[in-house]
Amino acid sequence: MKFTNYDWAQAILLYGLNAGTHKIALFKTLANFYTKKQSIVSWQDLSEQYFKIYNDRLKNNPRPQQSNPFRRSVQETIFYKLQNNRIDYDQAISEIGKDGFNDVIPRFQAFGKDKETLKNYFYEYDFGKKLILKDNLFDIPEKQMNSLFKEAEMKHNMLEGAYLIKRDNFKLENDIRNIYLIKGYDRTDLSNQRDFLLAYQSNICFLCGEELFGDETAPVEHLIQRDLLNHDEEWNLTVSHSLCNSSKLDSLVGPHYIEKLFCRNENIIGSSHPWKAKIIASLGSTKSLRRKNLMKHYENAKQVYGRNYWMGDKKYNREKDLFFKRFLTVLNNGTK
Ligand SMILES: [Zn+2]
Repeated sequence: MKFTNYDWAQAILLYGLNAGTHKIALFKTLANFYTKKQSIVSWQDLSEQYFKIYNDRLKNNPRPQQSNPFRRSVQETIFYKLQNNRIDYDQAISEIGKDGFNDVIPRFQAFGKDKETLKNYFYEYDFGKKLILKDNLFDIPEKQMNSLFKEAEMKHNMLEGAYLIKRDNFKLENDIRNIYLIKGYDRTDLSNQRDFLLAYQSNICFLCGEELFGDETAPVEHLIQRDLLNHDEEWNLTVSHSLCNSSKLDSLVGPHYIEKLFCRNENIIGSSHPWKAKIIASLGSTKSLRRKNLMKHYENAKQVYGRNYWMGDKKYNREKDLFFKRFLTVLNNGTK
């Protein structure tokens, strides 16, 4: 099967790695020299044209140019140095020429893992000096080149959008973690809270809803991951069969468990146990405040752990969960 130069150019565009926007920017740079019908491109011209793409773009709508939320691309770093007047425009161009092409020029003419088929196909280069564009590029009909340019533009927008979502989520996760870390304190032995907690769970395993009497190995665990909350406050501690607990692993539980946690906490509040004050201090003085705050923690956990909930035993059914049938629960939470 014979492919056209248009096909190959498209393969470069579409099958490129998506870790950064370099390849797309280089494609747009080459398209510019195609339009000018300029086959020998000095490193200076190349750098100018390439940087212009980033400069125009980041000035109007600054969005991340690579997937790794920890880092800025070389192009972004240079752009922001220019913005902050640490360098002038000529210096920016010269830095692009020096550091901006190390990966993209040698790697551009490839698709997927195939680095051989298109080697030197659209250009050859003398690194740091010049780029020589070949007829394979100029032979692409103008109409097709225009359509490739549009595809490149679309892909650039799409990648920026994806990176932005990634960066914002990462920032949010970090903010959430930091807030909890500041409030946190060291882990303590939780097993001495087992009897207390079990009483307010009416001796029912929190996870499966079946009876749990006298099991000295039943672990006291954090329902919402301790990694997030970084504290051992009672409102988040539950007791369950060790088997149930190991099946949950470190997953985030589904929403019905949070509802159950809310009811369990109301059992403690309603009973006027001395530790009632601790839960009020952590979650709030009224029932609606406590629900709101519990949900806030849960929403934060979802941001960090995603929504792949652990839903418990497939057969779990609130109607059959003994916890909801016990007097203590009905008294403090009413029937539903
Ligand atoms: Zn269980």
